[in-house]
Amino acid sequence: MSFRTARVDQVKRGAGFTAALDAMSQFWAYSPFNQWLIRMQLPDATHVAGRRTWERLGRKTRPGARPIVIVAPAANLRPPFVAVPVFDVSQTRGRRLPSVDMALRGPSDAAQGLERAAASLGVRVERFDGRPGLQGFSTGGTIHLRRRMPGRQRAATIAHELAHEILHTMRSRGDTTHAQVETEADATSYIVMRALGLPSKAPAYIAWHGGSGALVLRSLKRVQRAARRILRAYDRPTPKSPTCS
Ligand SMILES: [Zn+2]
Repeated sequence: MSFRTARVDQVKRGAGFTAALDAMSQFWAYSPFNQWLIRMQLPDATHVAGRRTWERLGRKTRPGARPIVIVAPAANLRPPFVAVPVFDVSQTRGRRLPSVDMALRGPSDAAQGLERAAASLGVRVERFDGRPGLQGFSTGGTIHLRRRMPGRQRAATIAHELAHEILHTMRSRGDTTHAQVETEADATSYIVMRALGLPSKAPAYIAWHGGSGALVLRSLKRVQRAARRILRAYDRPTPKSPTCS
């Protein structure tokens, strides 16, 4: 089973893709302190921007919406910071935000098998409550999965995070880019999903994270090795060695 690299570049050429990228580029990358301020004021915020940015995107703030206040460096440093009002997408209305569909719907039993595979590879699986924007993440030895995901999405997420865990241990150099790390993880997830007879949205995911067909090709050996390890662990009936937790 291999990856159809042309799909990634095909996604990128699609009309909707550039529109979605342009829309996403409008959202300011907030500092950790401002992210904390946003989280404190509106825990469920997903896309935060100023009134003018929302207007550029064809949306208006709802009447009576209470702004989230963040801080920005002042022009004349006296005072050094000024308060800036911003709004979450839920506080606005208007034109639909363009987006790339990366969600997998529908049930599957494969997730259970992949969780067992994780255990057999010595990786713990934990759950967290969170917003649909974040499906999972891995923290060296543990993968964290959002509660309440459709079976197929859960399977793809476990494969993706497990790939991060495996590829991390396979990595020897520290100069890998975000695009490459995400490309390798989702290309691995793609191979695992397809081998299990399940669909995958990896081409869209990889394109979204700045990857390309060429990047997939360059990483193909590592990706195939990682996928093979996951699939072997999936077929293994019992953990190779008992794990303590
Ligand atoms: Zn990832």
